[in-house]
Amino acid sequence: MSECIFCKICSGEIPVNVVYENDEVMAFEDANPQAPVHVLVIPKKHFDSIADNVDDETLLALHKGVKEVVKRKQLQDEGFRLVTNAGERAGQTVRHLHIHVLSGQRLSDNMA
Ligand code: 5GP
Ligand code: ZN
Repeated sequence: MSECIFCKICSGEIPVNVVYENDEVMAFEDANPQAPVHVLVIPKKHFDSIADNVDDETLLALHKGVKEVVKRKQLQDEGFRLVTNAGERAGQTVRHLHIHVLSGQRLSDNMA
């Protein structure tokens, strides 16, 4: 049994509010939202981060997941920001690749 919390989310052990799901990815509401819209898109297959030799199929699936979130949350006109933290010094707290989709307010100009 995996100790990774996002693997537990994929297996249904930890409940989340699902925005979109298919065989390869899950998109769900962040438990501690930093913006009015804060969704995490993750592959069901475990990778530590985007720097972890992610295969093309998974990258494509993540892209599809992001597009579905944009569609379902109607962010086309609002605009949105994608963030993925790789490594502790970049602010990564969960060691399972995830893309933050942030929107619903004017986002800060600060990237760091
Ligand atoms: P990181 O800091 O690693 O880039 O982002 C991890 C994100 O996962 C944080 O925004 C945090 O709020 C979110 N998170 C951590 N644990 C859980 C959980 O159990 N459920 C949900 N929905 N989000 C979580
Ligand atoms: Zn995992």
